[in-house]
Amino acid sequence: MPILVQKYGGSSVADVVRLKAVAQRIIQAKRSGYNVVAVVSAQGDTTDELITKAKEISQSPPKRELDMLLSTGEQISIALLAMAIAEEGHAVISLTGAQGGICTDSLYTRAKILRVDPARVKKELSEGRIVIVAGFQGINDMGDITTLGRGGSDTTAVALAAALEARACEIYTDVDGVYTADPRLVPTARKLDEISHGEMLELASLGAAILQPRAVELAAAWGVTIHVRSSFGEALGTLVKGDDQMEKQRVVSGVTRDLNVVKVMLVDVPDRPGVAHEIFSALAAEGINVDMIVQTTKQGPVTDLLFTICQDDYALTRQLIGELREKLGITNVLYNDRLAKVSIVGAGMMSNPGVAAAMFGTLAEHGINIEVISTSEIKVSCLIEACKVETAVKAIHDRFRLGEELHV
Ligand code: ADP
Ligand code: ASP
Ligand code: MG
Repeated sequence: MPILVQKYGGSSVADVVRLKAVAQRIIQAKRSGYNVVAVVSAQGDTTDELITKAKEISQSPPKRELDMLLSTGEQISIALLAMAIAEEGHAVISLTGAQGGICTDSLYTRAKILRVDPARVKKELSEGRIVIVAGFQGINDMGDITTLGRGGSDTTAVALAAALEARACEIYTDVDGVYTADPRLVPTARKLDEISHGEMLELASLGAAILQPRAVELAAAWGVTIHVRSSFGEALGTLVKGDDQMEKQRVVSGVTRDLNVVKVMLVDVPDRPGVAHEIFSALAAEGINVDMIVQTTKQGPVTDLLFTICQDDYALTRQLIGELREKLGITNVLYNDRLAKVSIVGAGMMSNPGVAAAMFGTLAEHGINIEVISTSEIKVSCLIEACKVETAVKAIHDRFRLGEELHV
């Protein structure tokens, strides 16, 4: 029997009614001739609530202990879902990430999957059971529980689909696919039937929460097609797959916003070889991801260096930059966490000059000042004031007429 991997997000298993509906969907897939592996997230806002609990005790809890705590959310879901399926008279077993063979490195709270050992899952399937696996969690070489970062259940699902050579990987969520913008923000956003791995990776990395970027990265590397669809209905969703000719004709595929941004400005940094290396390798050694980087030339032997990081890394960055400031003789450091990034993504941009200019023009028409710009072959991002980001997303969505069907 072919294997089908399905993943159900938090809102899809939020309460008893939803859990029972998901159980029915899984049973239906089993009846239609699949060996089903279902990856499940924590119910509703459980993960956020667990983080709040931890913060009541400590502002910076040991990350190993945080993972121990956060992983419990998914364990509640898998046990309840297995009970719901058993109640309907079907053979089923729930497995933790470790039991499901998800082996990770030891970077607690943002661990990477090193390998998947699918032996136990395969054995259970061969004995006729439906297998329910806890998303978001794995085990490191020391036998400790790790978690894969927010949204990590998507990555668990894709990793299992690749390791099991599944026929399909379906990601069930609370919207019916990938849209040209967050449909909760832009009512005219349009569902895409298909999108390439490359474009989806950019959208996800630039703030479209619908898929964890690493899940898309893994899907691209292993050639896994992801079907993003709603667990609340039967409609077909969006296929996230290898490059497709049709996609290239769409100049812009989507607009995103990312509020999780802090701008760091180093004023009067000594202008000599090795300084940028020293600053960015110190940040990299702590696992801090730096995004936009701009260095400006000035009169005299100094430069200004500006870069952005995520809010989560703010405290640690302040500490590291504080240490480097004295050592390197940097005159001043300024932080701004009231900014957001608005981005457009589209493979067709490569061959269509003027796309960036059109985006800048739209922002200007709305009186929105651009602080920093960064581009790649298939995206343009602008750092703007956070309070203006919703206006920006809507205006850009309108400007590129993303709500309209493409006729080719
Ligand atoms: P789950 O709990 O199922 O993993 P998430 O909350 O992680 O669900 O992701 C689904 C949400 O992603 C949607 O409710 C939607 O508001 C948001 N989203 C952001 N950008 C997009 C987009 N371009 N297309 C669809 N949904 C998006
Ligand atoms: N429960 C985790 C989170 O809220 C993982 C996930 O939902 O994918 O981030
Ligand atoms: Mg998610």
